[in-house]
Amino acid sequence: MKQPITGFQLDDEGHWVARLACGHRQHVRHQPPFTHRLWVTTEAGRAEKIGVELDCPRCDAFEWPDHIVAQAGQRD
Ligand SMILES: [Zn+2]
Repeated sequence: MKQPITGFQLDDEGHWVARLACGHRQHVRHQPPFTHRLWVTTEAGRAEKIGVELDCPRCDAFEWPDHIVAQAGQRD
């Protein structure tokens, strides 16, 4: 399912992760020579990609977004 990018964050290993409108996250690594996404390494490049749609395989699999799963797991 296509979902627009709403923002970016770095993971624990310093790789860029796109936040999607559905609540899922997807790595958008720049790892030459396998994956060329030089745009992700610059603020301006990332800003250009806000709103661009990515295919979200986790939506296709009907997976709950991470933040909803985390909230559901919290019990007082
Ligand atoms: Zn999704």
